[in-house]
Amino acid sequence: MKAVRIHKHGGVDVLKYDDIPTPTIRDDQVLVKIRAAAMNHLDLWVRKGIPGVPLPCILGSDGAGCVVDVGSKVTSFHPGDRVMIQPLTYCGVCHFCQQGKENYCDAWGIFGENQDGTQCEYMAVDETHIRSIPDHLDFVEASAFSLVAQTALAMLVRRAKIQRGEAVFIWGGTSGVGSIGIQIAKARGAIVYTATGSEKKSSVAKELGADEVVNYTKTDIVKWIMEKTNGRGVDVVMEHVGALTWRTSMNILGKGGRLVTCGATTGPKVNLDIRHLFYKQQSILGSTMGDAAAMDEALDLLKKKKIRPLVDRTFPMKDIKKAHTYLEQNKQIGKVALIP
Ligand SMILES: [Zn+2]
Repeated sequence: MKAVRIHKHGGVDVLKYDDIPTPTIRDDQVLVKIRAAAMNHLDLWVRKGIPGVPLPCILGSDGAGCVVDVGSKVTSFHPGDRVMIQPLTYCGVCHFCQQGKENYCDAWGIFGENQDGTQCEYMAVDETHIRSIPDHLDFVEASAFSLVAQTALAMLVRRAKIQRGEAVFIWGGTSGVGSIGIQIAKARGAIVYTATGSEKKSSVAKELGADEVVNYTKTDIVKWIMEKTNGRGVDVVMEHVGALTWRTSMNILGKGGRLVTCGATTGPKVNLDIRHLFYKQQSILGSTMGDAAAMDEALDLLKKKKIRPLVDRTFPMKDIKKAHTYLEQNKQIGKVALIP
């Protein structure tokens, strides 16, 4: 079968579309014929070099396709089923896994980061990692869902504990995690403010349900939020940008506010005035991926048509170099998926 692999870290030239043996399944696994595999910024980090990547490595965390074979102990799925993949891996027996906090597991991982991933023609996956695709979704949309939905739900619901009527500010409303974040926050009854980098992106964020949208390249966000909230600031800021936006994020956070962050794309070092933190009784919350149940809660919202993945475009999987270059340009509105 064909698979997108890296044998060493580096620029787009290290991406190979290799011929490798089709995997065989264990008794508790299913063989999925991948029909679409969405990309994440994680793919770029893995390609460029992060610790713990076994080389060579098949890239890709998200995938959707058809079951073509099942092991003898598999009970819930049959050949022909349309399925999507839950990308977080975990030990299942440790202290955290027992509590349903699989994303805190010492042995946690993600497909396409510390083990082979989804950007291939066939993948052997444990039955516990497979979910049925709702009928109204195609393979591309289904593949664009798991990692960002799990991440956004964990940030907003598990960590920031958003409440009905609260004001939530989301950076990058048309990014993968931002676009799902808007919809999850709306489904939970929050008032959603978001910032995007262009007029086109702003109109898409509005269509996703954001109450107020602003172009951050043209607007003083602090002034804008303070006007919109009568000087109160917001209850929750969803951060995934890092150094570039941190100061603004803290300045728009109101009393009792929670800033939840899952990323540092623009740099990891930030300043903090702890006087503001204690006086305003604020919380800063870290969040990484999401537990397995977060996938199922997000899937429930998906089935009820309260949320939907935002897809920008697809690339043939063989054009993986073009796809990485495109993602690095940051012009996409929503997710980019690869078709084997
Ligand atoms: Zn564990």
